[in-house]
Amino acid sequence: CGIVGYVGGQCALDVVLAGLRRLEYRGYDSAGVAVLADGGLASAKKAGKLANLEKELAGRPLPSGPTGLGHTRWATHGGPTDANAHPHLDNAGRVAVVHNGIIENFAELRAELTDRGHALGSETDTEVVSHLLAEAFSSCGDLPEAMRQVCRRLEGAFTLVAVHADEPDVVVGARRNSPLVVGVGDGENFLASDVAAFIAHTREAIELGQDQVVELRRDGVTVTDFDGAPADVRPYHVDWDA
Ligand code: GLU
Repeated sequence: CGIVGYVGGQCALDVVLAGLRRLEYRGYDSAGVAVLADGGLASAKKAGKLANLEKELAGRPLPSGPTGLGHTRWATHGGPTDANAHPHLDNAGRVAVVHNGIIENFAELRAELTDRGHALGSETDTEVVSHLLAEAFSSCGDLPEAMRQVCRRLEGAFTLVAVHADEPDVVVGARRNSPLVVGVGDGENFLASDVAAFIAHTREAIELGQDQVVELRRDGVTVTDFDGAPADVRPYHVDWDA
């Protein structure tokens, strides 16, 4: 339902949690976050309100790092449980994915992954993406390219944001039939399903077009289509009293 991604000089977890708060008005049933720090990936997710997640984080703090993502979920596939909350990880715990929308062909992708030995731990349509992304990354070694390969296999509506512990300076996003906006900062950049999530930090935005993938770094934003061809970006100024 709500998505936030961040890379920059601030504590990613704080920025992501504040962004999720700004998206609460949309309604949700679960929330979760992931951060990259110390060469690894750390995550937490809970059914219920953001306050539940914050309570969990108070008892089990995540390390502070510059790269992170978060999600508030409105369940479509699988009930509102801790296990079904996003982010979803791969089996090695190196990839974290959050998703808005519905992956229509998830059942066949799930069967394919199970046949190849992946253990899926949730009832969501989303989880196939984290496993596919981990596989694609292990063969191509590049997160945006892995995301493009995976998106070409997906049917339905999706906003996806992902991180990989092997590329700690990158947040990758993709969209089809579901919104994703880049917030362009100074030495920091944001991704969100809605500008409300980053309006406290920047008013400079880029609306991602249909079937595009974005690579976000502290000092740059690169947009391509699902085949890797560079895309024209459409920057605009968010003119809105928040
Ligand atoms: N279809 C996904 C799920 O049920 C994403 C739902 C959403 O958009 O929040 O987990």
